[in-house]
Amino acid sequence: MTVRQFTDEKLVIASHNSGKLVEIADLLAPFNVETLGAGSLGLAEPEETGLTFIANAELKALASATVSGLPALADDSGLAVDALDGAPGIYSARWAETPSGERDFQFAMHKVEMALAQKPDEPRTASFICALSLAWPDGHVESFEGKVDGTLVWPLRGLHGFGYDPMFLPLGGDLTFGEMQPEAKHAISHRADAFIQLVEQCFGG
Ligand code: IMP
Repeated sequence: MTVRQFTDEKLVIASHNSGKLVEIADLLAPFNVETLGAGSLGLAEPEETGLTFIANAELKALASATVSGLPALADDSGLAVDALDGAPGIYSARWAETPSGERDFQFAMHKVEMALAQKPDEPRTASFICALSLAWPDGHVESFEGKVDGTLVWPLRGLHGFGYDPMFLPLGGDLTFGEMQPEAKHAISHRADAFIQLVEQCFGG
């Protein structure tokens, strides 16, 4: 099956996260694409009802493409811990929800560590996963999944990054994602891996 090429001038980024919008616009800058944020177009965020990273990325990209009439790019990502059968996985953000309804990743990482403590003989291996989906208004979708493997450390290390970064030591490295400079993390991250595939396959990069 041939992969559909992106030949338009405008691309909707199906995310309301301003950090992601800037990061994606930067990555696509060499390809002369005008990127538009879903929020600035008044597009609603659909509920993430999929059971895989790709299913959630696809439903977000399709919702934006269908309503806007323009191609749309969406991502979905998270931490998959081997000893926890891939949890928190697609529920990575939800694991950070506290009883008072706030998001606290120290709390989420503590939950991961408590779950791992129940399985002292299991390996502490984990992966960050990122699915990227590019959807067109006619319903066609191309999806890619990027991954970075590592192990989980405790106590937490580093103040850079976000989410589960202070717990994640990439394979072969000495610094956690929380200790690495952002550029160093971005060079090897799950998001970079998925982007390289997207650009190679759909942007002729
Ligand atoms: P979403 O893809 O925006 O739904 O993000 C899911 C969650 O996965 C985030 O809130 C983070 O907790 C976690 N996550 C995804 N990517 C990373 C990363 O690069 N570092 C740390 N946590 C991440």
